Amino acid sequence: KLSNRLQAIAEFVTPGNRVADIGSDHALLPAFLVQSGKAPSAIAGELNQGPLLAARKQVAAAGLAQRIDVRQGDGLSVIGPNETDTVTIAGMGGALMRDILEAGYRDGKLEGVKELVLQPNIGEELVREWLLRREFALLAERILEEDGKIYEILHAAKNGGSHPDGRKLYDREWLGAQVAEPLLSSVVMKMGPYLLRSPNEVFFKKWNSELKKMNRIAEQLSQSELPEAGKKLAALKSEIAAIEEVLRCLQ
Ligand code: SAM
Repeated sequence: KLSNRLQAIAEFVTPGNRVADIGSDHALLPAFLVQSGKAPSAIAGELNQGPLLAARKQVAAAGLAQRIDVRQGDGLSVIGPNETDTVTIAGMGGALMRDILEAGYRDGKLEGVKELVLQPNIGEELVREWLLRREFALLAERILEEDGKIYEILHAAKNGGSHPDGRKLYDREWLGAQVAEPLLSSVVMKMGPYLLRSPNEVFFKKWNSELKKMNRIAEQLSQSELPEAGKKLAALKSEIAAIEEVLRCLQ
């Protein structure tokens, strides 16, 4: 059975779209998408030999070799022109994901791509910032917990997409938080504009635990004698205060 995480990613894929799953590992996601009839065909991209073989094995065992092409390569380099409608990338850090997207963008690999479904394990703000910079509109976000881990999934489309807010990802009036710019923007990018609009239990759990971690770091910094410690502590303290204020506004 597919994990809830991969299932939630699959739910964001527009039916009928051809998918490229980058960093596919065992190719479970493309196998599910094709098998369920949601995607007519898919590419499973993998950089590393071990996962590549796992993907080939999985695709062959499911009898899907005609419809899922397993390709070895770095990031979006495995995509040919006009081959893909949806790119999914899941289960890696936000910095790597951002670098893969940016390299692909520069190589024109995203030109025909209509939507992105992204599940960074950490550093979600790096991915949100990249989407904004490269004019992919964030359409929806989801946060879920599975086996003690919390995951966020971002759904984005080429700008001109139907999201009514366009590039305006948050609304100061709506949020009502007493936090000055640019700190407010950076906190919204971290926490997620849509997740902030309809926060669930998992969202509060994540941010309460993040605040605990941040407070622990602040404690360490306050005892540090390193030259930059004071400056870092001040920045961290304002960030903690901003997140607390935003959470207070949501309660
Ligand atoms: N996407 C699957 C999932 O979410 O369950 C697998 C996630 S797995 C933890 C990350 C995979 O990304 C690994 O199999 C790794 O080999 C692959 N990977 C890492 N860097 C990559 C890159 N630059 N291009 C393609 N694949 C990459």
